[in-house]
Amino acid sequence: MSQKIWVHAEIRDDGTVAEVSLELLTKARELASALGGAALEATLAGYGIASEAERLAGYGASMIYAADAPELELYSPRPYAALLSNLAALHKPDIYLFGATSTGSSLGPAVAARLRTGMAAHCVDLRINGDGKLAALVPSFGGRLIGEILCPGHSPQMASVKPGIFKAEAAAGQFAVEPVTRKAWADANAKGSLKPLGMVKHPPRGMPIAEAQVIVCGGIGIGGEENWRMIEQLAESLGGAAACTRPVLDEGWCDEGRMIGTSGRSVRPKLYIGLGVSGATHHVCGMNEAGVIISVNRDQDAPIFEVSDIRVEADVNAILPRLAEALRR
Ligand SMILES: Cc1cc2nc3c(=O)[nH]c(=O)nc-3n(C[C@H](O)[C@H](O)[C@H](O)COP(=O)(O)OP(=O)(O)OC[C@H]3O[C@@H](n4cnc5c(N)ncnc54)[C@H](O)[C@@H]3O)c2cc1C
Repeated sequence: MSQKIWVHAEIRDDGTVAEVSLELLTKARELASALGGAALEATLAGYGIASEAERLAGYGASMIYAADAPELELYSPRPYAALLSNLAALHKPDIYLFGATSTGSSLGPAVAARLRTGMAAHCVDLRINGDGKLAALVPSFGGRLIGEILCPGHSPQMASVKPGIFKAEAAAGQFAVEPVTRKAWADANAKGSLKPLGMVKHPPRGMPIAEAQVIVCGGIGIGGEENWRMIEQLAESLGGAAACTRPVLDEGWCDEGRMIGTSGRSVRPKLYIGLGVSGATHHVCGMNEAGVIISVNRDQDAPIFEVSDIRVEADVNAILPRLAEALRR
């Protein structure tokens, strides 16, 4: 019997399918053919989302399980996890993929726990190994190694992948939509469960990194918060966005939406300028698809130089003010 790959199609707050779900469907087509023609199906939940089912079909999903109901309008882990785990228990997918967004990172493991299976989180690649099993690739040991996570003894094999790692490419085909009845999540609406009342949006400061064609990224090598302000000014004068590595975020110099990497965002700008960034795998896997990469580092052996088009071996304290001044002029 042919195998089944499922992708959960996440609905954003504007009511449309998140780009990461289309990226996953595209990657899942490759996995499906590696499995000798597995079926590719999707799950969809929300309110007023019927037209999005067709969108999923445009990326290769041949069957879409769609739960469309007012009580699913706002994401809440309990009914959503009940819905998806009940569907999976019924239809038995072999592989089930989620976007590693804030919603997917809460929902995926909750579904896995209900199904008594495992989940590889924040993967940087997915492939089918020689035994026909899903191999989920995740940076390990501070990013020095890429580990292969397998879950051969339990089903479904589950993984989440950050937005921007794969590229979404349309491929329409025949499809069917199966409406899901309330029974599938009703057990989670028991008395006492949390109920979302509304959503409050906080607009990000400055241009979001996912939209920027130019990114200026500060690593911990920039040395201090005053230099982070220069990174922001530099990014603004280039019409781009400021981004950071994990240690910069940990210092509290900027907000979370600015971090690039496995636990941050993946980006594909035309130009990435990294200052004081070492090039750890956790960071590099989120930016190595940039068009041109320029790096400034005082260590000639910094790993970031291996993926850079232009390498500047220098002290950022000497480069940053001169760059800012040149752009001001
Ligand atoms: C599970 C997990 C997930 C992670 N996810 C992420 C993630 O999503 N994103 C991320 O970025 N990291 C992530 N990390 C952390 C990651 O492994 C690295 O520790 C981090 O990326 C290093 O950041 P950095 O380059 O700023 O700092 P460092 O590695 O400390 O590098 C600083 C660099 O600055 C250079 N430097 C210092 N002073 C100067 C100067 N004056 N002039 C020029 N160069 C200078 C140094 O030579 C060095 O190369 C994760 C780690 C784990 C364990």
